[in-house]
Amino acid sequence: MSIQINNSNFVHCHVHSEYSNFDGLIPIKKLVNKARFMGFPALAITDHGTIGGWIKFIQACTATVDKDGKELPYLPIKPILGIECYLCKNMSYKSKALQPEGRKGNSHLILLAKNWDGYKNICFLSQASWVDGFYSHPRIDFEMLNKHSSGVIASSACLGGIINANLLRDRYEQAKKAAIILKDIFKEDFFLEVMFHGMEEQKLIISDILKLGKELNIPVIASNDVHFLEKEHAESQEVLMCMSTNKCMKDSKRMRHSYPEYYLKSAKEMYSIFKFCPQVLYNTLSIAERVQGKEIINSLFGGMKIPRFVVPKEYKNPYDYLSFLAYEGLKKLGWDKSQKHVDALKMELGDIKVAYDNNGYDFSTYFLVVWDIINHAKKVGILTGPGRGSGYGSVILRCIGATYGPDPIKYGLIWERFLGFEKKRFIAAKDFGFDSIDKQKDLPLKAIEERSRNEDPGGVDRY
Ligand SMILES: [Zn+2]
Ligand SMILES: [Zn+2]
Repeated sequence: MSIQINNSNFVHCHVHSEYSNFDGLIPIKKLVNKARFMGFPALAITDHGTIGGWIKFIQACTATVDKDGKELPYLPIKPILGIECYLCKNMSYKSKALQPEGRKGNSHLILLAKNWDGYKNICFLSQASWVDGFYSHPRIDFEMLNKHSSGVIASSACLGGIINANLLRDRYEQAKKAAIILKDIFKEDFFLEVMFHGMEEQKLIISDILKLGKELNIPVIASNDVHFLEKEHAESQEVLMCMSTNKCMKDSKRMRHSYPEYYLKSAKEMYSIFKFCPQVLYNTLSIAERVQGKEIINSLFGGMKIPRFVVPKEYKNPYDYLSFLAYEGLKKLGWDKSQKHVDALKMELGDIKVAYDNNGYDFSTYFLVVWDIINHAKKVGILTGPGRGSGYGSVILRCIGATYGPDPIKYGLIWERFLGFEKKRFIAAKDFGFDSIDKQKDLPLKAIEERSRNEDPGGVDRY
């Protein structure tokens, strides 16, 4: 049988970027550029315990032009958003007494978002692992996984995965039990994973993994647990590992990868390892095919994501309520006697209506949410600044009291900096920033949580 394996029918489903702190070496742009150059149809990102690289990864995979507007030479690829999570017995056990195995009590598992539901579930699991499950690592447990498995594809990861670790210790039945539990959770979206970097331990369990797959009817995929881009970057990876374990390169007892094989291999290189069972290569394509990339990207970037705002009964919609508040404020400021102010307010309200009617962007709710937060901050004694940036140019915000200070019309501040239109089509919007003093820095977020019943606010992390 002649095998036609090439980069267009193999997908790396287990890949670490530099977001795998002190373990992954590859900057996302370089990773994706190489994958695009090599002609893979899709690529996954599965960093240890974090989804921090996802947005950058989507942008790199789907971009068609570079930052100067020049067309990119290689075709976009489908981004597969994933995580290599830490699974423990019980995520509420956070002491040596309850988890005596320490970090060894955590096993690895690859989770990939199949659709928007899966995207949200992995986000939830990631947040829960840091906020509720953190103990030496961000952890989740089987119960949590079970509740949030819809739309998620899972695969059994490396030697640190629960199935592989059991196989390595010659506990086939225990490995089988774990595989049955995971298959029960993820159904036909559960995969077993084989990898080989030259390690004897990996070689030992490959036949058991294939046997388990046959016995339980679970498809097996091949991965390369990519940690660096090129083979010659292996030494840099060793340096990184020394940094993470606080060791010197000269230290003979330091942790080592030993094998320079954890790089982004071509399908042909993967074939040379798994030619005795090429199906494990083709199965990666079946993962990529079931990932609904467009649905995820459209849900993520399409429209506007804002919290709900309940308007008083006597108003038809947020726009009516915002208009009422704005005209009330205009009167209070005495600006109803100035044609310039009246015109500016009319124009801003008109733009907001057009953005909603023509493009579905609900700025009325956005303005009301900002107004509500500022009001609440004032009520509970949080100091806020007068407003800043593009939002300060808005007469609406000034009229409803979300900003204060100098008159934006008198000083020629420009509303269009906030909301830009071209031929009646809304093209760009800024966001509103407001200041609070440093000592009170936790209060505004708490106030926002209170106003939104703790459902909607998000924190932003940075690396
Ligand atoms: Zn792993
Ligand atoms: Zn890994």
